[in-house]
Amino acid sequence: MALHKLELFENNIGVSDAVLLEPIEEEGFIENLKKRFHHEQIYTYIGTVVVSVNPYRKLPLYTDDVIFEYKSRNIYELPPHVYAIADDAYRSMRDKNLDQCIIISGESGAGKTEASKVIMQYVAAVSGKGQDIDKVKEQLLQSNPVLEAFGNAKTNKNDNSSRFGKYMDIEFDYKGDPIGGLITNYLLEKVRMYNNFPVEQFFVEGLAFLTVTLTELSQEIKNICCKPSLSSWAIPLLQKTIMVRTPGKKKVMGVLDIYGFEIFESNSFEQFIINYCNEKLQQIFIELTLKEEQEEYIREGIEWIHVDYFDNSVICDLIEKSNVGILAMLDEECLRPGNVTDTTFLNKLNQTCCEHPHFESRGTKKARSDKSLPHDSFRLRHYAGEVVYKVDGFLEKNNDLLFRDLSQAMYQCQHSLCKDLFPEGDPDKISLKRPPTAGSQFKVSVAELMKNLLSKNPNYIRCIKPNEQKRARVFEEHLVRHQVRYLGLMENVRVRRAGYAFRQLYPQFVYRYKMLSAATWPNWYGVPKDGVKEILIAQDISSDEYTFGKTKLFVRNPRTLFDLEERRRDR
Ligand code: ADP
Ligand code: MG
Repeated sequence: MALHKLELFENNIGVSDAVLLEPIEEEGFIENLKKRFHHEQIYTYIGTVVVSVNPYRKLPLYTDDVIFEYKSRNIYELPPHVYAIADDAYRSMRDKNLDQCIIISGESGAGKTEASKVIMQYVAAVSGKGQDIDKVKEQLLQSNPVLEAFGNAKTNKNDNSSRFGKYMDIEFDYKGDPIGGLITNYLLEKVRMYNNFPVEQFFVEGLAFLTVTLTELSQEIKNICCKPSLSSWAIPLLQKTIMVRTPGKKKVMGVLDIYGFEIFESNSFEQFIINYCNEKLQQIFIELTLKEEQEEYIREGIEWIHVDYFDNSVICDLIEKSNVGILAMLDEECLRPGNVTDTTFLNKLNQTCCEHPHFESRGTKKARSDKSLPHDSFRLRHYAGEVVYKVDGFLEKNNDLLFRDLSQAMYQCQHSLCKDLFPEGDPDKISLKRPPTAGSQFKVSVAELMKNLLSKNPNYIRCIKPNEQKRARVFEEHLVRHQVRYLGLMENVRVRRAGYAFRQLYPQFVYRYKMLSAATWPNWYGVPKDGVKEILIAQDISSDEYTFGKTKLFVRNPRTLFDLEERRRDR
């Protein structure tokens, strides 16, 4: 019953749970990640959130032996690992019937896809075996390279991959064996035209049946239409062919692989959408974390302590509120007849949002003389920091005319699959209602995603890229600081540490600190809670430092714990 998180602290390779950092400051947080990174400890917890720093080299962390070690162990018994989260999520799903989701965020190259593979590898290793199950597992494990191939295809001409999110539901039967799944992709640009780019180039080993379908289909498309990029239709195809969906009752584990907050030199519609999505993810993070915390307090019968945190619903509203939000303004401008431009859109924002505390532009009174803000841009104060968006291209990207034209062309295609893949190209449907804009489509899919995630028990992995050169052993602090800020990690620490920084089951506490009281040493045979009391009294710990729950001791300040640790070591 080793308590690794404390052991690690003793070994001077940083604390394995940032909740125990004292004081909670960005510098110390980054210093801790750095120290751990240089000791091959790429994972650090913030409570149950895993922060992962891309090592850019193979570490012996993913072998069958390691999987075996993490299988069915308590999360704090071993060093932080994605396996620990995967195991916890898998067991809660299988044994407590709680659907799970694992939210993996970070910027491009931070290790999100690797992390989702690690999760799938774990699930495949610990669940049951059998012909049908193995087939599903094979499909799960293969879906990633296939999706990556499609994702990367687009970057052939453009370094910014158009996919910013991918959500995969893995479905399990009552025994916890995988029986199917479904993938949803979040694409920023649905269509890019490629010339001289053979479709077959994207195919991945081990999926011949898929190639045939795609070749047929591509031939069909070439006969009616120009050459579209695979990103427009390969993904829906994968949803239909790679993943099997089974009717009836099932348990679900969702894995969301999504870009974190993006802030570049110049930010446009794409960053606006990604950041909007992250703002919503933060909203549910806080909601769910505080809810979980509150539920634990209720379970343990202790009083809830009010937690101060920044409620970002004010920014979510600014973006998405019907009729008055930025997306609504954008739609209005896109659909308004007459001379509409990105500038008229900005003017409209200036009128409607000028009083909003999270909106600024040169056309509003409060930022009129702010030289750091260009005239063609507006600035949003996101929960993670300020971002300046250039309005150039907003209208065109929101209109998404190319996609509408292509959908209609594809729908005319003789191949039945095309009609399935582009239902929005149906002329009957088009004439019925006004075609959706990109922004309104995103709003709907983001809302669906949030509803889905809220119905599940969340688990978080935050990925960090330590350098831009993909080099091993290089940790650039300024780059990491930027990501720590935009992933909102300090806010994660604060919310997780709200109230009590540390809690531990009574028997485990007695086992670890029994040498600190004559009454409990060498063994305590009484009720564990009484043993804990003996230890706390013997060590003269102030009573407002802790609270007794039904099964656990709650400690307010990490310092108290470190004191106990020191005394334990000095024995
Ligand atoms: P993302 O999906 O966030 O864009 P990837 O998961 O594709 O990033 O990671 C980019 C590259 O970084 C991988 O191809 C791999 O070389 C390296 N990498 C990421 N995570 C790890 C890891 N845990 N161990 C070793 N290398 C990793
Ligand atoms: Mg990826």
